[in-house]
Parts: sequence; C-alpha cells; structure tokens
Amino acid sequence: MSQRESCERTILHMDMDAFYASVEELDAPELSGWPVIVGGPREGRGVVAAANYVARRFGVRSAMPMTQALRLCPDARVRTPRMARYVELSAAIHEILHRYTPCIEPLALDEAYLDLSDSLRLFGHAEGIGRDIQRKIRQQTGLSASIGIGPNKLIAKIASDLEKPAGFVQVPATPRCGHFSHRFPSPGSGASGPRARPACGPAALSASVICRG
Ligand SMILES: [Mg+2]
Repeated sequence: MSQRESCERTILHMDMDAFYASVEELDAPELSGWPVIVGGPREGRGVVAAANYVARRFGVRSAMPMTQALRLCPDARVRTPRMARYVELSAAIHEILHRYTPCIEPLALDEAYLDLSDSLRLFGHAEGIGRDIQRKIRQQTGLSASIGIGPNKLIAKIASDLEKPAGFVQVPATPRCGHFSHRFPSPGSGASGPRARPACGPAALSASVICRG
C-alpha cells in the first residue's frame, strides 16, 4: 500500500463509556447517581475492574486496589463483575458495528476499530456512520459510546477519548497536527485526558492501517 493510499483511510474507534459500570447501572437503576465500582472483593487483594464517572471524580481508577478505591470513595456501590452479561451486550454492540463494515478489529468487549474506507460510498460520510452507530447503540442497548474518527488507528483512538462520555470527535483526513494537538493538556497539567500527544506527520498517518489485503 502506498503512502498516499494509506493516508486516505477512514478509521473509526468505538469505545463504550465505563462499560462494566454502565451495564451495572443499566440493570440496577437504583445505582443511578451513586459512585459505582465493579471489581472486588472489597477486602484482600481485590482490584477495580471499572468505575463509573461519579466514582472517577473521587480518583478511583481501573486496576486500583479495591481497598485504596474505597478509602477514596467510601460510599461507592461495589458490584461483582458479571462477565456473561457484558459479553451478551458486547455481542449486541458488535452486531450493530457489523452493519457498516466487515472490516472490524475488536480490541476488547467494549472497544473496536472499524475501517470505513470502503463503506463511505454505500453509507455516505463518516460522520453520519459514526453518529448512526452511537445512536443505535444507545437505542438498542441503553448504553453510551464514544466515537473517534481519523485517518489512522492512533488518531481515531485518541479522538474517541477526548470528549468522553458520549464523545464524538472527527479529525480531518489531512490533519493539521497543530490544530489537533492543541486540544491536549500540556504535560504535567493534570491527570485527565490522553497521556500522550499524537504523533504527527506521514509516519503517524501510515502507522496503523487496518485490514490490509
Ligand atoms: Mg471503554
């Protein structure tokens, strides 16, 4: 694939918002408004598998020891992971994604790359596809997804993280890196947001095109 062709790819990154915790809230409406932590057990060596956005405001993060998380957020509602339920909803989400392209690279139950490059003639522009996916996920599962669209996987993934939850960020196919990267916090300016600036230039544009051949 030539450099020129690789720069013309349109990659969408779909990332569910606080997936495990959001599923717990979906299935137990009484959790609404509470900090929710999925993981456990509460004592011993339990770790946080996921935390909703309320819990994150207290500093709770994935992979944190549960004892530390509950020191930060003693009122958190703790739920044991229900993998079968997460797999069930993930399958419904991926069924939606497959309506737009067969060219999908799943990263996790709640995350996937779609190469839309060959879908645009059929479905129109990428923004329409992305908004459609976001809306259908909401309608059919009750869950929130963030979408990033860009000319490669790196930029699409960073874009999906920029405006979470329910974010939608599209980076033009020929990104002006200065324009895009100004939206990132300066190093050391805080813990939120992506931890790395996107690489810029031709190397970044051709770094990670999916569905070769
Ligand atoms: Mg996620």
